[in-house]
Amino acid sequence: MDSLAAPQDRLVEQLLSPRTQAQRRLKDIDKQYVGFATLPNQVHRKSVKKGFDFTLMVAGESGLGKSTLVHSLFLTDLYKDRKLLSAEERINQTVEILKHTVDIEEKGVKLKLTIVDTPGFGDAVNNFECWKPITDYVDQQFEQYFRDESGLNRKNIQDNRVHCCLYFISPFGHGLRPVDVGFMKALHEKVNIVPLIAKADCLVPSEIRKLKDRIREEIDKFGIHVYQFPECDSDEDEDFKQQDRELKESAPFAVIGSNTVVEAKGQRVRGRLYPWGIVEVENQAHCDFVKLRNMLIRTHMHDLKDVTCDVHYENYRAHCIQQMTSKLTQDSRMESPIPILPLPTPDSETEKLIRMKDEEGRAGR
Ligand code: GDP
Repeated sequence: MDSLAAPQDRLVEQLLSPRTQAQRRLKDIDKQYVGFATLPNQVHRKSVKKGFDFTLMVAGESGLGKSTLVHSLFLTDLYKDRKLLSAEERINQTVEILKHTVDIEEKGVKLKLTIVDTPGFGDAVNNFECWKPITDYVDQQFEQYFRDESGLNRKNIQDNRVHCCLYFISPFGHGLRPVDVGFMKALHEKVNIVPLIAKADCLVPSEIRKLKDRIREEIDKFGIHVYQFPECDSDEDEDFKQQDRELKESAPFAVIGSNTVVEAKGQRVRGRLYPWGIVEVENQAHCDFVKLRNMLIRTHMHDLKDVTCDVHYENYRAHCIQQMTSKLTQDSRMESPIPILPLPTPDSETEKLIRMKDEEGRAGR
C-alpha cells in the first residue's frame, strides 16, 4: 500500500507524530479484518440487556434448612410470608409446590431468580411416592415449553423449566433414606440434582467425610445420576484446574446456612453463634457453602441451563414425539385398510403433521 502512495503523501506521513503514525498503521491492519472478532461482545451486550433467568428447586424434609440456605445464597428473604404448619396440620398435608420469583441486579446484570419450594415433602407418616407432585410439576414445565415452542409466537417464550434441584439430605442418618433414593431416582432423568448434606455443623469433619463416602457409594449402587460437573478444558490455568478438582472431590457438598450476621475475630460474618463458638457459613474450613455458591452462580449456572435444555428437555421432547407418532400411526391404521409402516424417527415434516393433528383433535374436543 505504501509503495502506491503519492510522494507528497509519504512526506506527510513522515511529518506526523509517531503516535499518529501508529494509529494509522492500526487502522490499515483493521481494514484487513472482517470484524467477526467482535461477535462475543455483541452477544455479551445483548444478553446483559435481555437479562438472565434461573429456576432453582429446593427439596428435602422440612426443617433441614432449605429456606435458610436460599437466604444465605442469594441474600434475599423469599420466605417472609411463610406459614409453618402444626404437627396436626402436617398429618393431612400433601406436597405443595410454591414458586417465589425475585429480580436481582448486580453490577448492571439482571437475574430473574425463581425458587421452587416443595413444602410437605417427606413429612408424612407414609411417604409412598410423595415425589409424584414434584415430578408432575417438572413435566408440566417441559410440556408448557414444548407447546410454546410449537406455537405461532415463539419469540417471547417464558422458560419455567427447572434448571437445578438442590436435594437436602439429613445429617442425622447413616446415608440415604429410602425416600431420598425414591426422590432422586424419580427425578434424575428430568432435572439436574445436586445433593447436599444439610446442617453440616451438626457433624465433626471425620463424620462428614464418612457420610460423604457413604452417600457417594449409595448413589453409585442405586444407579442415581446426579448432576455431573463438566470436564475442565485442558487449556485452563493450573489454579482453575485445582479449583475444579476440589469442587468435584467435595461433592456432595456439606452446607451450613444462617440468616444472621455475627462478629467473629473483629469481623462481621454470616454465621451461627453457639455458646462454644461460631460456625462461619463462608469459611471453607467449616463447610462447602462457598463451593456450592461458586458452582451454582459463578461457574456452572450456564452449564446447568444447557444440560436442562440439551439433555433433560430433549429426552422429554423425543419421548413426546415418539408417543405422538405411534398414536398417529395407530389412528391411520384404523382409518386406512392399507397397512402403514411405523415411522422410525420423525422428521420435521412429520412433526408438523403431528402438531396439526394434535391441534385439530383439541379443537374438536
Ligand atoms: P426448611 O423447613 O427446610 O426450610 O428449614 P429452615 O430453613 O426453616 O430451618 C429450620 C431450622 O433449622 C431453623 O431454626 C434454622 O435456623 C435452622 N437451621 C437452618 N440452617 C441450619 C444449619 O445449617 N445448621 C443448623 N444447626 N441449623 C440450621
